[in-house]
Amino acid sequence: MAQEKHFFQSEAAELLKMMIHSVYSNKEIFLRELISNASDALDKRRIEVLSSDEYGEYEPRIRLTRDKEKGTLTILDNGIGMNRQEIVSYIGTIAKSGTREFLDAAKQDGGKDGLSTGEMLIGQFGVGFYSAFMVADKVELVSRRLGSSEAWKFESSGDGSYTLEEAALPECGTSVKLCLRQPGSGDEDKEKDYTDEWTLRGIVRKYSDFIAYPIVMNCSKQKDKQETMEDEVINSQKAIWCKAEAEVTEDEYREFYRHLSHDWQEPLTRITLNAEGSVNFRGLLFIPRQAPFDLFMNEKSGGLSLYIKRVFIMNDCKDLIPSYLRFVKGVVDSEDLPLNISREILQEDPRVRVMRRSTLRKLFAALRKMLENEREKYGGFWTAFGKVFKEGVVHDEENTETILELSLFYSTHGSGQGAEDERTTLDDCKTRMKSDQEGIYYLVGRNLSLLKSSPKLEAFSEKGYEVLLLTDPVDEVIMSHTQEYKETKFIDAGTGQAASEEERKEAEKRLETLAGDFTPLKEKITGALSGVLSDVRLSARMKSSPACLVGDENAMSLQMEQLMRAMGQDIPPVKRILEVNPEHPVVRKLMDLAKAGDEKVGEFAEVLYDQALILEGASIADAGRFAHLLAKIMGQALGMEQG
Ligand code: ADP
Ligand code: MG
Repeated sequence: MAQEKHFFQSEAAELLKMMIHSVYSNKEIFLRELISNASDALDKRRIEVLSSDEYGEYEPRIRLTRDKEKGTLTILDNGIGMNRQEIVSYIGTIAKSGTREFLDAAKQDGGKDGLSTGEMLIGQFGVGFYSAFMVADKVELVSRRLGSSEAWKFESSGDGSYTLEEAALPECGTSVKLCLRQPGSGDEDKEKDYTDEWTLRGIVRKYSDFIAYPIVMNCSKQKDKQETMEDEVINSQKAIWCKAEAEVTEDEYREFYRHLSHDWQEPLTRITLNAEGSVNFRGLLFIPRQAPFDLFMNEKSGGLSLYIKRVFIMNDCKDLIPSYLRFVKGVVDSEDLPLNISREILQEDPRVRVMRRSTLRKLFAALRKMLENEREKYGGFWTAFGKVFKEGVVHDEENTETILELSLFYSTHGSGQGAEDERTTLDDCKTRMKSDQEGIYYLVGRNLSLLKSSPKLEAFSEKGYEVLLLTDPVDEVIMSHTQEYKETKFIDAGTGQAASEEERKEAEKRLETLAGDFTPLKEKITGALSGVLSDVRLSARMKSSPACLVGDENAMSLQMEQLMRAMGQDIPPVKRILEVNPEHPVVRKLMDLAKAGDEKVGEFAEVLYDQALILEGASIADAGRFAHLLAKIMGQALGMEQG
């Protein structure tokens, strides 16, 4: 069959170009990337073989073949391989969302955090394969998919196009042959000789020593004073999670994390598991520094890999860790499970449940320790993953209290700058509670600045009560779901009151005496805003604002209402109560005017309602009319009565 010419998808071509031209001092990592792909492919083959008895025995391995004369290096694996379509879509295309934006940003600011653009590109997009072009003029990939007899050859010089043609490979797997740039040619930093035995040994030891499959290379041996060549396994294959922590260097941990997560940043923290008891297992978990951009959409990117007796069984084993911890990456390895365990059995296996529980306990303990001793770091964790972690309050009843204990919240206690350390734990919030406080108060809203200026906080601030300021949609669900924390009630400051029984009675009495004077204004407001409100009433809630909107005790908040609608739910508009502050001079004046039958009052009522909406962060129904009324009122205030 003839050779076909293809063009890289435009993003892929651009990325490739950036990769080739990035001034990259650390080019040797191309080998790490290609070995990592080979190892992934062997993992995938294992999964497929496990779930079918169609395929026979095989010895998994990765082989490096070098040819000094021709200047080539070949990385061969007998993993799952790729068919023609897979080559086109995995190698010729980048499917990740956000690629375009990222490319543009990367072009502007180059590398961040001391990392080169190349490293960032590899990490962000999983374009490890392209790193081959940093050291090679030409790359030839031949691949044969498990279960297929045909093989395909992909060839490219990294110039925007590639060719595909039929080829042959004796067994399934992939071979990647690099036609290396000549050492020292052109480049400022002299390229290493990647056909040199000791160079390759060094790189493999540095980046890929822990790879679970043997990496085989033909190496020179002294035998009877004669040099001969012999195959040798050049990685120790020693599972890093089985070594004592003291035996592993930080670099080794870092490389392992990288291999596992494809993350270009260092992890935030590392947790080692070593459980002995009814089930023996070891593990190595990492919490990343930043959330991947698909944390909420795609559950593929995290998870724990399950190994049994150091043999890889599966990626992203959901039975080992609850989904609200899906950002944790790592490996769990058990001595006690049978190698041929199936996914279905795994789910039911009591040993797996023990492993899950003990892993969870370890994770909580590590988080608690970080919260207590490294508050700033914990703030970083919370910024990245708090939203996901909090889901656990609703989904993991057994651990609700622990999850709440480890949760951070903004509150009125902070100085209001939105800094990390300003967030509080519920325990700290509890210790600051005033003796007459009935519970932990919270207020839900669109964002912090809106919440901080909410009229609903006024009475609470006056009394010195702390109020949690909640801006995540899930917060509201959490509060109504749990209702209390360590025997202290959660109270919605939006509907609740910052007053004792006595004060409340007193306030009610006072408001009652004003009821008569209020009736004409109430009628005017109700008339002007017919149908949108469920009630208009006087309230002692505010100190300096004239009016605010509140829901009934059980009503869904405005935020929740808007969120549901944004998610496409067709819910009827929730009618709210307009509360009016009789102590406010404007309200007083309006009461007088209404009593005197002044027609202006209706328009003022509209403005009052709209500004209450704005303070809730909600959009007003008719912005044009609001602007018109405001201009009119300004005109009046400026003495242009006829405006
Ligand atoms: P990543 O490994 O992050 O997915 P790469 O650019 O390294 O990104 O590889 C892209 C894809 O190409 C891989 O996800 C895999 O599907 C496929 N691939 C690369 N190398 C191999 C290989 N040796 N065997 C099988 N598939 C491979
Ligand atoms: Mg890769």
